[in-house]
Amino acid sequence: MAVPKRRQSKARSRKRRSHDALIAPTYTLCTNCGALTRPHSVCTSCGTYKGVQILKVKEKKK
Ligand SMILES: [Zn+2]
Repeated sequence: MAVPKRRQSKARSRKRRSHDALIAPTYTLCTNCGALTRPHSVCTSCGTYKGVQILKVKEKKK
Protein backbone atom coordinates (compact mmCIF):
# COMPACT_ATOMS: atom_id res chain seq x y z
CA MET A 1 0.00 0.00 0.00
CA ALA A 2 1.25 3.47 -0.82
CA VAL A 3 2.29 5.49 2.20
CA PRO A 4 2.59 9.29 2.19
CA LYS A 5 6.19 10.48 2.41
CA ARG A 6 5.45 13.77 4.09
CA ARG A 7 2.76 14.89 6.49
CA GLN A 8 0.35 17.37 4.91
CA SER A 9 0.65 20.84 6.36
CA LYS A 10 -2.23 22.32 8.36
CA ALA A 11 -2.55 25.03 5.71
CA ARG A 12 -2.91 22.50 2.91
CA SER A 13 -5.63 20.54 4.74
CA ARG A 14 -7.43 23.71 5.75
CA LYS A 15 -7.31 25.08 2.22
CA ARG A 16 -8.91 21.88 0.93
CA ARG A 17 -11.58 22.00 3.66
CA SER A 18 -12.43 25.62 2.86
CA HIS A 19 -14.87 24.23 0.24
CA ASP A 20 -16.48 21.61 2.52
CA ALA A 21 -19.00 23.81 4.31
CA LEU A 22 -22.66 22.81 4.01
CA ILE A 23 -25.05 25.41 2.66
CA ALA A 24 -28.75 25.60 3.42
CA PRO A 25 -31.05 24.69 0.50
CA THR A 26 -32.87 27.58 -1.18
CA TYR A 27 -36.65 27.71 -1.30
CA THR A 28 -39.09 29.77 -3.33
CA LEU A 29 -42.79 30.35 -2.84
CA CYS A 30 -45.12 28.34 -5.08
CA THR A 31 -47.02 30.67 -7.41
CA ASN A 32 -50.12 28.45 -7.20
CA CYS A 33 -50.50 27.60 -3.50
CA GLY A 34 -47.80 29.66 -1.78
CA ALA A 35 -45.99 26.71 -0.18
CA LEU A 36 -42.20 26.67 0.06
CA THR A 37 -40.67 24.65 -2.82
CA ARG A 38 -37.25 24.13 -4.35
CA PRO A 39 -36.68 26.37 -7.41
CA HIS A 40 -37.03 24.73 -10.88
CA SER A 41 -39.03 21.80 -9.48
CA VAL A 42 -42.65 20.72 -9.22
CA CYS A 43 -44.43 21.90 -6.09
CA THR A 44 -44.91 18.89 -3.80
CA SER A 45 -48.00 20.28 -2.08
CA CYS A 46 -50.13 21.11 -5.16
CA GLY A 47 -48.27 19.33 -8.00
CA THR A 48 -47.93 22.32 -10.35
CA TYR A 49 -44.93 23.75 -12.16
CA LYS A 50 -45.06 27.21 -13.77
CA GLY A 51 -48.85 27.18 -13.37
CA VAL A 52 -49.25 23.81 -15.18
CA GLN A 53 -50.69 20.79 -13.32
CA ILE A 54 -48.01 18.07 -13.51
CA LEU A 55 -48.82 15.61 -10.73
CA LYS A 56 -52.04 14.36 -9.20
CA VAL A 57 -51.96 15.19 -5.51
CA LYS A 58 -53.58 12.82 -3.06
CA GLU A 59 -55.82 14.58 -0.58
CA LYS A 60 -54.87 14.20 3.05
CA LYS A 61 -57.14 11.96 5.11
CA LYS A 62 -58.39 13.33 8.40
ZN1 LIG B 1 -47.97 24.65 -4.87
